[in-house]
Formats: sequence, structure tokens, C-alpha cells
Amino acid sequence: MKLGMSMGKFEAELDSDVCDQYNNANLILTMKLGFRQINPAGNAASGTYHDYGNPTRSTRKIIKWTVGSWELWKKNFVSSAQNYWHGKFWLVNNFDLYTYEKNGVKYRPNIWCGFKLVGKDAGAEAQHHTIDVVRLDPTEKWFGSHETLYDSKDTDNVVKGRTSANKPIMQRAHVHEVGHLLGLDHVDVGKANCPVGSNTNLAPCYGVADPDKQSVMGQGMQLRMEHAVPWRRAMITLSGKGSLMTLTDWEAKRVRHYPRIPSEVASNAAIINRPTRK
Ligand SMILES: [Zn+2]
Repeated sequence: MKLGMSMGKFEAELDSDVCDQYNNANLILTMKLGFRQINPAGNAASGTYHDYGNPTRSTRKIIKWTVGSWELWKKNFVSSAQNYWHGKFWLVNNFDLYTYEKNGVKYRPNIWCGFKLVGKDAGAEAQHHTIDVVRLDPTEKWFGSHETLYDSKDTDNVVKGRTSANKPIMQRAHVHEVGHLLGLDHVDVGKANCPVGSNTNLAPCYGVADPDKQSVMGQGMQLRMEHAVPWRRAMITLSGKGSLMTLTDWEAKRVRHYPRIPSEVASNAAIINRPTRK
């Protein structure tokens, strides 16, 4: 069975045809990005562009994209962001759904979470997001980016913050921005230091406590359990079962959980070591 639907900012497809004694159903989120060059005005080799594309903000020096720099940048963006988000979570199936039979034995699959990022030039085909990209002059160290305006250095691993012990916290910005496109908020959104409805780009929203700062939705590169929400949300929508508020509904795990036979389901066993199956 293949069950697909649009989640607005990406597509979700659940594939249970791959299920057997060892393989769970696959849930692949596919996001199509259209990249658009921002070049200096008047076809010049160099020029300026404003932070956040906002004329009231600082200007930065930019240079013209070349065919080679553009192709390389897109390829690096797509492969590294996809690698970061792909195949990191399994969702435990706590519902009587998608049961199948192999060699006379019934199995209930869990859900393996995949991510496919497709990056092309804007307008080449239907895309979920159009992303403008400036090529920074080598002398520029910083540019104000957001989720649909990037700079050529957003794929670099740079210091985004410091721990309480003054240790640098590194981040590749594009991985964080793709997290936003998947529907994830900054790490501290909803806490007292970053109330819902406030400007969630304020510094405290990127984390105050060290472990929160390290989150990929803070200032670092750490993947956390709550980052499985886009896949959990897709499963709730596709299956019509469960709620995000109940953490055991499509509960996220960071290790492979094999499909279960009825006795394992009944005893609520987690099969994380490869079992012997008929
Ligand atoms: Zn952000």
C-alpha cells in the first residue's frame, strides 16, 4: 500500500509494500525547493544587498554567481541537508494499523522516517518553496538570512553561539532553516523566555540553557526527539489516529524498532535487536 498526501510545505508518502519480517513501513517526506540567484544590479560583477532583504537593514557586499559556483552550492546544500534529516527516527506503531502477514505470521510495522530534498532552479517544476540566494563577497563574514533567503555561506559550519563555559557552538545554518521548513520552531518557543506569539527570532528563543543552545533548532547541530514532530504529524494526518500531545502516539525513537508479532505487541516489547523470524 502506498498512501500519499500533501502536507502543504512538503509531501508525505507512507509505503507499506516494503514491509517484511524485518522491514517497517517507510514514511518519506519530500520537499521541493526552487533556488533563485540574487545577483548584483545591472549585471555587475559586484554590488550590495540588504540583510533579510529588508531595505532598512545593513547592506552587505555581494558578487555575481557563476555557473560553477551555483551548481556546486545547490548540490552541497541539498545533499548535506537531506543527509542531516533523513533516516534518523522510527515511530512506534501503537495502533492496530497496517498489519500484514509473512509465512503465516502476523506483523505490525513501525514507521521509518525518511526525508528527500529536491533542489532545482526556481520555476523548473512545481516547488514547495522558492529560496533566494545571495553570493557573499569573500570579505563579508555575516549576512542576515531567513528561511527563504540564504547566503552562499549558510552551508558553512560556523560559530553561532557560546556555552556557559564559553565553548563555541557550531551550526550549519541551512540545516536549521530546513528544520523551519519542516514546521519546527526555535528550541525555546513556548517557554517563559520566548512566549508564543512574540518575535521568535529573539536571541532567547535560540536557547538559554546549554543543552537547548546545542539543539539544531537553537544554535547547534544536535538532533533531539522533538524534531520527529513533522513525521509524527504526517502519520497522524495519514492514519487519522493519534495526537501530537500524547507522546506515546507514534512515539519517536532514535534506534531501529523492528516490526512486531502480536505477542510482542501485547507485552509492549520493543524489538531493537534483530530477532529470529520465520
Ligand atoms: Zn531559525
